[in-house]
Amino acid sequence: MPAQEDFAIKTLGPCTRPSPLSRLHDVGFVEDDARILYQHKCGAGAADWGGLCFEEAGPRASIYFDPAKTTAAVVTCGGLSPGLNNVIRSVYCELAYNYLVPRVLGVRNGYMGLNPDSGLRMVELTPAFVDNIHYLGGTVLGSSRGSQEVGVIVDTLVRDEIDILFCVGGDGTQRGAAAISDEVERRGLKKAVVGIPKTIDNDLHYVYKSFGYDTALEKAEEVLRGAHVEARCAPNGIGLVKLMGRNAGFIAAGAALASQDANFVLIPEIPFRLEGEDGFLTELERRVLSKGHALVVVAEGAGQDLFTPSDTRRDASGNVLHDDIGILIRDHCHAHFKDRGIAINLKYIDPSYYIRSTPANAGDRILSDQMARMAVHAAMAGKTDTLIGYWHNELVHVPIRTAIAEKRQLDLTSDLWTAVMRSTGQPVWRV
Ligand code: ATP
Ligand code: MG
Repeated sequence: MPAQEDFAIKTLGPCTRPSPLSRLHDVGFVEDDARILYQHKCGAGAADWGGLCFEEAGPRASIYFDPAKTTAAVVTCGGLSPGLNNVIRSVYCELAYNYLVPRVLGVRNGYMGLNPDSGLRMVELTPAFVDNIHYLGGTVLGSSRGSQEVGVIVDTLVRDEIDILFCVGGDGTQRGAAAISDEVERRGLKKAVVGIPKTIDNDLHYVYKSFGYDTALEKAEEVLRGAHVEARCAPNGIGLVKLMGRNAGFIAAGAALASQDANFVLIPEIPFRLEGEDGFLTELERRVLSKGHALVVVAEGAGQDLFTPSDTRRDASGNVLHDDIGILIRDHCHAHFKDRGIAINLKYIDPSYYIRSTPANAGDRILSDQMARMAVHAAMAGKTDTLIGYWHNELVHVPIRTAIAEKRQLDLTSDLWTAVMRSTGQPVWRV
């Protein structure tokens, strides 16, 4: 259960300068004591959160940094997600055109680009550099995994006179941002570290939805449609689609619900058995024999307990590398139906890289723009160790360490999962 102190935002000092945004029309400054309530339900049965609230994001009438003497940098880390270039562009545009910050740097290839040993040089962002990048997938700055020494990163911030660092990435990136912020504070430096959440899996706490998620659903739904057509057009056709979701099944659930064609959705939150009377394969067999085809959606982190324990493999950032559940299910399907003398036509599709690398759709372009501009407002007001969260349709400030304290998973009593269960008709697995 969070407490109010978990939502306390750190600032570098008093805001003594009028915001240059006041020269623009109808800015809609947000008072620094504006709050968004944690609990938005009331009445019988609603929990009493005693006024627990987040700081509202938005431009402040007074700011901490002197724009003319400020240098900002933006870094993108971790896996790709639609909208990264939109974030880079909007961070630059808000800083350069609205706050009149003269120097904005782009860090190459994630935190690696803040380590001089990498040989990577930062790029100075300009109108020409960002001109058309919002149409592109990926990140024009590059990204990477793998740890960098935090002291070296802060040395770089000092050497290059960077006052504000925007860290665009998932949980790992935000852990890095929190460590950088700690080191900055330990050295008594006045530098703001602000996180912009990039989580296509939608698994960061206090971020109802991150940019990239909607685009991922749209693309995943197209794939499900294709897999469904393939399955329907072959005798005993089975479409098996693996989607992203290492710890949470939001993409699998959302895409399945959007498609309305999925018959089974397997997610990390719900363990299941393959064999046995109430096992997945028995249910799949029933479905195929009764309807002649089936569409199965599996999140990459589902069913990890079905693998024989081996040495845990990790990526360069230390994240556990999952065994491939899609391949495991595919192989067990073939074996299961072969044993029973039933011929099937199974098509296995893993579209993850295709989905991650596409440009953002309209909704994600808007969300990435808003998150980027709110991050700029927060930083210029001297907020630090702060992530832009999304709560009850409002953008808010969340202390980075609160956001990364635990991973967000799908609530199995939520409307989303309930609707998935209704639309698929799949059984409740009991393991
Ligand atoms: P995604 O999981 O969506 O791809 P991510 O931000 O979680 O994004 P990671 O590869 O886990 O991706 O982390 C990105 C960067 O953050 C890496 O360079 C990694 O070394 C760094 N990082 C992760 N955890 C920490 C930590 N505890 N302290 C410092 N840096 C960290
Ligand atoms: Mg991660």
